[in-house]
Amino acid sequence: MVMLEVKKLSKCFIDLEVLRDVNISIKKGEVVVVIGPSGSGKSTLLRCINLLEQPTGGEILYMGQNIMQLGKKVTDYRKHVGMVFQRFNLFPLKTSLENVMYAPVKLNKLQPKDAKDQAMELLCKVGLESKANVYPLALSGGQQQRVAIARALAMQPDIMLFDEPTSALDPELVGDVLEVMKQLAKEGMTMMVVTHEMGFAKDVADRVIFMDGGYVIEEDTPSEIFTRPKNDRTRAFLARVL
Ligand code: ADP
Ligand code: MG
Repeated sequence: MVMLEVKKLSKCFIDLEVLRDVNISIKKGEVVVVIGPSGSGKSTLLRCINLLEQPTGGEILYMGQNIMQLGKKVTDYRKHVGMVFQRFNLFPLKTSLENVMYAPVKLNKLQPKDAKDQAMELLCKVGLESKANVYPLALSGGQQQRVAIARALAMQPDIMLFDEPTSALDPELVGDVLEVMKQLAKEGMTMMVVTHEMGFAKDVADRVIFMDGGYVIEEDTPSEIFTRPKNDRTRAFLARVL
């Protein structure tokens, strides 16, 4: 079942064309990793998918529905899409538990008691049950990012978008965050992950998409793209990062 379909998507910032004719299709349960040089449009693509940016042209279909034509229902759509950013931006004056409980209560998805139980479960899942009552400042970057993942999961999304979730972390903290993401993938979460962690892409991705200059240049299984890239630009990029 196709969950998300991006068709001929384009995005311009005034006269700068950042996405051009992007076509991507993601099935339920698939993990798609997006790689590419800085400035190639990866973040803009994710931001268009959850409508943090308004696309200039093309279509984004979620379960067959064009999300640009949802009108007020766009809030409902966003509840199905979880997003984790490079910078964790947790609420600094709320504990881990309060951070994870906040959205489901605020948006009337769960009663406070249920939201709290769920938040504890999610903190367990990301290995931070012992940090439930701790404030973000007292957590390492990796722990903050894991709380941010739990917070996104609290809305029970159908798809999770990750934008370089480990890029701002000290190297020794990257592994724990990737482990949580691996576990999510194993459980069948549909995921779109922008990352420079090629090991993660090799181990976890069903498909890897290489972007450059706003185009999807190449798309294939990790084993194909990492061992036999077909495009010169993919080859050159991989030679730099592998
Ligand atoms: P990536 O995530 O692959 O590094 P981005 O999607 O962040 O790339 O950016 C792609 C291009 O779009 C870059 O040239 C960037 O400067 C430009 N860009 C991104 N956001 C904006 C914005 N809000 N206004 C103008 N230009 C932007
Ligand atoms: Mg980016």
